[in-house]
Amino acid sequence: MTYKQVIEELCVVNFLSWDHDDPMGTVMRLLEYEVQLALDPRISKQAVDLITQYGGCFERQCPICESPVIDGKCQDIGNNNCTYTEG
Ligand SMILES: [Zn+2]
Repeated sequence: MTYKQVIEELCVVNFLSWDHDDPMGTVMRLLEYEVQLALDPRISKQAVDLITQYGGCFERQCPICESPVIDGKCQDIGNNNCTYTEG
């Protein structure tokens, strides 16, 4: 498998478009997507660890269990069965 094939396959798997005339742009879109995934605590254990370690730095925090609140919903990092929702 060539580098080009690998990049195209990763784009297909992740539902991203690629541009044969813009290989750098294609790679950058792929990297940007992977970084977003890596920073999402709903997906990434590393993101959860960062939030747990630096939780106080986050803008919104659950008033009950102190987990981060994303999209108005407590992420319940410690699995406390917290169901806090904003609003
Ligand atoms: Zn909570």
